[in-house]
Amino acid sequence: MAPDFEFVVVGQGLAGTAVAWQLRRRGRRVLVLDRGDPHAASRVAAGLITPYTGRRVARTWNLDHCFNIAVGYYRSSQAETGATVFHHAPALRLFAGAAERDVARGKIDATRFDRGIDPAWFAAPHGGFDLTPAARLDVPRFLDAYRALFQEHHAYRAFDLDPAADVEPTDAGVRLPRLGVTAGWVVFCEGAAGAGNPWFPAVPYNLAKGEILTLRVPGLGEPRPVHRGVWLAPQGGDVFLAGSTYDRDDHTPTPTAAGRAAIEAGLREFSKLPFEVIGHRAGVRPVLTTTRPMLGVHPRHRLAVLTGLGSKGALYAPTYGAMLVDHLTDGRPIDAAVRLVQSQ
Ligand SMILES: Cc1cc2nc3c(=O)[nH]c(=O)nc-3n(C[C@H](O)[C@H](O)[C@H](O)COP(=O)(O)OP(=O)(O)OC[C@H]3O[C@@H](n4cnc5c(N)ncnc54)[C@H](O)[C@@H]3O)c2cc1C
Repeated sequence: MAPDFEFVVVGQGLAGTAVAWQLRRRGRRVLVLDRGDPHAASRVAAGLITPYTGRRVARTWNLDHCFNIAVGYYRSSQAETGATVFHHAPALRLFAGAAERDVARGKIDATRFDRGIDPAWFAAPHGGFDLTPAARLDVPRFLDAYRALFQEHHAYRAFDLDPAADVEPTDAGVRLPRLGVTAGWVVFCEGAAGAGNPWFPAVPYNLAKGEILTLRVPGLGEPRPVHRGVWLAPQGGDVFLAGSTYDRDDHTPTPTAAGRAAIEAGLREFSKLPFEVIGHRAGVRPVLTTTRPMLGVHPRHRLAVLTGLGSKGALYAPTYGAMLVDHLTDGRPIDAAVRLVQSQ
């Protein structure tokens, strides 16, 4: 007998949305489950896509390939949902010192240096450069738009699945008795919660908590996200997000006074205008020791996983969601660089 759904996707963050989108595009019968975790990384994230990071001005892994796919995916999704959530525009990187500027000189075209840095807003004695290609995704609005669309097509259920107790693999697929559903495949896209999933013990999680502040900065008219260790990202009017911290030891989704102080201190190093903190949130990033996404299937059961989007879910979810679906539906190989290797 055919299963109720060809695919059940567990989790509707950036990963699960990309997987479900690809499956629906191929005409597959999909059910998406989500338990509505308000601290899920995708609910907290700023959605910035940044091509160079850190003091060494390191280029993001696999940027060009993933960026092109992301632009196509988010533009299609805007057309499908009618929600304007994706902004493809440069960001601004300010240098913390002369050494950083020297490093960047060897990598970045000179015409991109020192464009439109307003001295009334920023202390930037070493200048900076325009980061491109860059983009910004309003992640919560994007997810809400897809949740509504999946609901409209009877492809969404609010449900907290216990992977240990609720998943019964069979020869033909998977039974989910508490949900009352059978599936051809179950695809886990649980983010950091996947660290407790007993079906995929080989995924090498190395989770990292992050905190973000919402600020009011009267008088700041900078339209670009600005990066200088801490980043500042415009949200409309005088509201900005600022972040983020990176903590490998604390995996609770609770905002901390230390996190807030670190962001405020980083901000004061380059932002001249006074600001008021109006919000503070935290989430845990699904980072792996490989620092790359990871995807694959269980060696014996019809279970699959997409995780490890780390700090770059907006960039990586479209590419690796498509790669997993290509594998599940057409048997196309998964790139060795991101393939899960698990013997049992
Ligand atoms: C502070 C912070 C700032 C960030 N900033 C950026 C940024 O600027 N740009 C960027 O690209 N990325 C950023 N990230 C990273 C980004 O958030 C993640 O890469 C991405 O959101 C991970 O998506 P995911 O779908 O894998 O996991 P999640 O977002 O965690 O989604 C998992 C979903 O699954 C659901 N779920 C989990 N387990 C179950 C279960 N058993 N049953 C039912 N539902 C379940 C949860 O409710 C959740 O909705 C940031 C992260 C943090 C924490």
